[in-house]
Amino acid sequence: MINVTRSSMPPFEEYCDEIKKIWDSRWLTNNGIEHRTLENELCEKFNVKNTVLFANGHLALECAIAGYDFPSGSEVITTPFTFASTTHAIARNGLVPVFCDINPDDYTIDVSKIEELITDKTVAIVPVHVYGNMCDVYAIDKIAKKHGLRVIYDAAHAFNVTYKGVSSACFGDASMFSFHATKVFHTIEGGGICTANDELAKYLNHIKNFGQDGEDCIYAGTNCKMNEFAAAMGVCNLRHLDEEIAKRKLVADRYIKRLSGAKGIKLSIPSDDTVQNYAYFPVLFDGYKLNRDEVFDLLGKHDIVPRKYFYPLTNSFTCYNNLETAGEDKTPVAKHIANNILCLPIYADLTVAEVDRICDLILQ
Ligand SMILES: *Cc1c(COP(=O)(O)O)cnc(C)c1O
Repeated sequence: MINVTRSSMPPFEEYCDEIKKIWDSRWLTNNGIEHRTLENELCEKFNVKNTVLFANGHLALECAIAGYDFPSGSEVITTPFTFASTTHAIARNGLVPVFCDINPDDYTIDVSKIEELITDKTVAIVPVHVYGNMCDVYAIDKIAKKHGLRVIYDAAHAFNVTYKGVSSACFGDASMFSFHATKVFHTIEGGGICTANDELAKYLNHIKNFGQDGEDCIYAGTNCKMNEFAAAMGVCNLRHLDEEIAKRKLVADRYIKRLSGAKGIKLSIPSDDTVQNYAYFPVLFDGYKLNRDEVFDLLGKHDIVPRKYFYPLTNSFTCYNNLETAGEDKTPVAKHIANNILCLPIYADLTVAEVDRICDLILQ
């Protein structure tokens, strides 16, 4: 069986060596040595002032949005072509997600359609670097400055990606990364916020630990700290990141070699300004001979499990039925992409022979 992804693991002995320190110290969570090490290494790697680790990416994003204390009912412009988490993080803060359509080529937010969605209730933009394709960060920055809006990126897919030589961690007011087991870099479960804003970082460090400040609580906080075993997994995985990405690149290059130019198939090739992490390999099937669902079924018959990702759009979820801004017909490009896209298997240990088998079936 070839699944869409497979978690990368450090050598077993290396992880054992790392967690030996936790055994000896009996310091299992609450800002231990592994937690501090990982935060420092990420700050250094991405040249960002603050990294705040969390139990998962979703709560990191939810807390970062909460950090700006927007009035309840305020509007946040985002895209529906994302994982449920992005939209939920907005809604769970008592804010209204307003869905902007996406670009037909890289599937990120269509910046030419943002301004028409801005009202006197708009407070922020939450764009997504889908598949590690970077949003038009400079255009978004310009719009945000002009209208006094905050920008919080869902960078869950863009770990270690750079745009014009600058890390994906450095754009907007803050960027959220997910370190879930299925991501390019993982801590089993985990996430982080990278930000240059010291006030926000301070808030996040309080809020993820019940809002405690000494004996007092200065916020009605929550509990979403990263534990030491998760951080240790991150410390180990970070050592192997370059190797992991290089192996993924071989897989992506093979797919591109075999599939580019084939009739009925459109690949998403990022701009030359982007150094990719090869987290996903999305392919658009435009209905020539077989449609997306038929290709999915065909591969499934051969024990190959791609993923309809992202499908369905978040603006068509039942939980947003009562939202005036919902409805996939309002974002026709996103609707088209969601109905035709398939993410093919990609992970470090996927062999060229396996990629060829997948490509042979598709080309056939
Ligand atoms: C994985 C993911 C998240 C959520 O991250 P978790 O760590 O699983 O909570 C949010 N947004 C996107 C786009 C993701 O892919």
